[in-house]
Amino acid sequence: MRCPFCGDENNRVIDSRLGRDETEIRRRRECQECQRRFTTRERVEDVLPRIVKRDERREDFDRRKLLASLEKACAKRPVSVDALERLADRIEKRAQESGDPEVLSDRLGEWVLDELVRIDTLAAARFASVFRDFQNADDYAAFFEDAAARRAAAREELPSVRAPEPPRRPPA
Ligand SMILES: [Zn+2]
Repeated sequence: MRCPFCGDENNRVIDSRLGRDETEIRRRRECQECQRRFTTRERVEDVLPRIVKRDERREDFDRRKLLASLEKACAKRPVSVDALERLADRIEKRAQESGDPEVLSDRLGEWVLDELVRIDTLAAARFASVFRDFQNADDYAAFFEDAAARRAAAREELPSVRAPEPPRRPPA
């Protein structure tokens, strides 16, 4: 991506947002050479980062693969397909908005875990056991301790997700 003013190729992304129809992503960039700012528009499917595996192989971001691993983790858990689709949407959006051409698969896994732990702790444990390669019960124990802390933090962040107060009974 060349600067339209000076032609330099080095710039940094200072803001990214999805267009209204979500098929386009707009990026505000600042040229490292002349410091001028410009906007680029890219098609969403072109801007999903590549995923870098632990063995350094690169893969395309694959939403279907992500959903398949989520469904596996949520087998027999009370989590709707719709909730998983929305989770996949959020991960995809986060990957797009990172503005990075590549994302480590471990980082992607952490994003998923961060979301899944708020939806269903057992499903999150299953997901973590695969992607963090749990070896024994201690790994699970450490996970559940961490999950409890994450859930508590999430509740503090989002007071609106607390159950509403039961209606007061009118005086007899
Ligand atoms: Zn420039």
